[in-house]
Amino acid sequence: MSGDGPLAPSERVASVPESGIRKFFEVAAEMDDVVSLGVGEPDFATPYRAREAAIDSLQRGKTSYTANKGMAALRERIADHVTRYDLDYDPDAEVLVTAGASEAIDLAFRALVDPGDTVAIAQPSYVSYEPGVRFADGEPLPVPTCAEDEFALTREALEAAGASEADLLVYCYPNNPTGATMSEEALREVAAFCREHDIGVLADEIYAALTYEGEHTSIATLPGMRERTVVFNGFSKAYAMTGLRLGYALAPPAVVDSLNRVHQYTMLSAPTTAQHAAIEALDNCESDVAEMRTQYDRRRNFVLARLDEMGIDCFEATGAFYVFPESPWPDAGEFAEALLEAEQVAVVPGDAFGEGGEGHLRMSYASSMADLRTAMDRLERFLD
Ligand code: PMP
Repeated sequence: MSGDGPLAPSERVASVPESGIRKFFEVAAEMDDVVSLGVGEPDFATPYRAREAAIDSLQRGKTSYTANKGMAALRERIADHVTRYDLDYDPDAEVLVTAGASEAIDLAFRALVDPGDTVAIAQPSYVSYEPGVRFADGEPLPVPTCAEDEFALTREALEAAGASEADLLVYCYPNNPTGATMSEEALREVAAFCREHDIGVLADEIYAALTYEGEHTSIATLPGMRERTVVFNGFSKAYAMTGLRLGYALAPPAVVDSLNRVHQYTMLSAPTTAQHAAIEALDNCESDVAEMRTQYDRRRNFVLARLDEMGIDCFEATGAFYVFPESPWPDAGEFAEALLEAEQVAVVPGDAFGEGGEGHLRMSYASSMADLRTAMDRLERFLD
């Protein structure tokens, strides 16, 4: 324990700082008329049929625990769904339904990391990985990616960071916060590096369905990778189901058993109502997903075009719902604060997402076209 008193936080917990994004948004929440491009969640409502299925399950009194691994009917649909990415997993032994992808990621760290193990983290990245590794007593090793590579993970980046010594590598592509995606060719390099150095891969593919140019490739489909990879996905992003808290992990049977060893004691089972909604989502909501993807793509093109007109450098982000332009001022934090104060537009400084993000801003386009237009008009006025 650190500090005083019987309920002082453990040293492990005390060593993890509060989320930089959260602090920023607490300031924004106190202001009037803020247009926020800061949130990492869809602005769409959950597809109607999925909501109806959730309500119907409640009315039928389906409110008990499910099997630890999730309802068999849902695991079957998940296994069927992921065949679109050429992933082939046995619904009984290789699929674990979790409370959001967040739980699956946390389970992987706790189930696979021994004290002192090194976990390489491709950055800039979603903010939960580094704390998650620390909560598991692992050693996070940031692997910065860069604008010149359009924030793709490369062998050079892995080598430069000393990741050959790592036990595990975690990344998310399509990426939060950059919107970068990985081509199959680029993934092959990463896969070769991981095979050469016997590194396990935790592939966060929660934005797989939100890929705008070409198809999403999962690293688990590459030769020799399935047995060393855990794939995470979920319903929060593509199906606009963040609050329902449902995700899943895909991995070989022994790995799913390890994850489930933690899950069965700490969570028992993922939310039952959400599992009913998810079955309906997979069965009948593909047109809703397609429509949302079309809208995101329109917004993406709009934001990229406006940034370009303003002379703000931004690579063509091709996935998730973020763009990651260069900050017009060298200090992105100062720029974000000044923009918020002067024009009430909230964006997130890139360094909140780890190394490689300095001098950039994350802007989410999971906002209405009207809000995006207002935000871009205000940004333009601010620059003038
Ligand atoms: N991974 C990434 C890359 C994310 O952006 C998020 C949500 N912001 C999550 C995981 C967590 O998703 P879930 O709601 O399924 O826990």
